[in-house]
Amino acid sequence: MTDLPAATIAAAAFYDRHYAGAEPIFLQPGMKLTLGSGERPRHCRFCGKDEPAVTFKDEAHALPAAFGNTGLFSNYECDACNHLFGEGIENHLGNWTKPMRTLSRIRGRSGVPTIKKPGPEKGWRVEYSGTGFRLKEYEDEPFFELDDETKQVRFQLHRDTYIPVAALKGLVKIGLTLIPEAETQHFRETYEWIRDPDHARNFAAQFPVFRTFIPGPMRNDLIVLMLMRRRTGIDAVPYAFFTFAYGNEVLQVFLPSISQDKCIDGKTLSLPAFPTPGTPDPARYGLPRVTVENLTGREPVKGEKVPAVFGFDSMAESEPADAKGEA
Ligand SMILES: [Zn+2]
Repeated sequence: MTDLPAATIAAAAFYDRHYAGAEPIFLQPGMKLTLGSGERPRHCRFCGKDEPAVTFKDEAHALPAAFGNTGLFSNYECDACNHLFGEGIENHLGNWTKPMRTLSRIRGRSGVPTIKKPGPEKGWRVEYSGTGFRLKEYEDEPFFELDDETKQVRFQLHRDTYIPVAALKGLVKIGLTLIPEAETQHFRETYEWIRDPDHARNFAAQFPVFRTFIPGPMRNDLIVLMLMRRRTGIDAVPYAFFTFAYGNEVLQVFLPSISQDKCIDGKTLSLPAFPTPGTPDPARYGLPRVTVENLTGREPVKGEKVPAVFGFDSMAESEPADAKGEA
């Protein structure tokens, strides 16, 4: 632990002083965990309705299957809310995270997502074959920049259209699924906000999402979910955070509570990101990089570029203008 950067040690001390973290969930293949008792009549924590006014026939994913979740479900999301989220905010969250899920080799319902040039005409594509990445470009339209010396290939992926605040609601929804039943009373308005298909409503004045990118080869079948709640007697920081790590990315989002966050109204927040355990090999891949994402925009974002860098051990060319790379 002694070789951790000073900022990481300071951030760990900050969170330890201000927050109590719940036991993290380490989600791995083969594991099955259903949150909430299966007792009848069931109650939906999202819309507040009970059986038989609402039904609970579908298996409700506690986080979308797109992140590789095949084992974490909940008993307290009704079918109507499940469909509302699945057709709305989870699509926006899916589009926002898709480039990262591809690069991290995260298997959703239909495998690792392929990313290709938008539009109907032929063009570049990035897909994962199961053993390595297959990168395709056309001679008249070079897409990849290859550096044999550093063994890196650089390119720019594009993001499918998404509404930032809808993606944000999708993230907050995962946190609100995981919080203990006793905490839900503090988040009534937050539940209403994530269910509201009108994305124009402003909810929290400050809404930081910390994104940490961990470079290097990371497991693509481990998801770590963690909740943090402010310690009693502390009032200068947001009440609750939710942290979600998958592949090469860690996302940390504020779970706003109208009643519990009154004490930070009008104050400018200054928080470090929750420290991540670090990279597999910092000398080779560099240190984790933290950015603060602003996902409060209400207008659709179209054609956003996402820069990507692959390191490779070996590369084989196949057919003219095709390249196959082991990432
Ligand atoms: Zn419901």
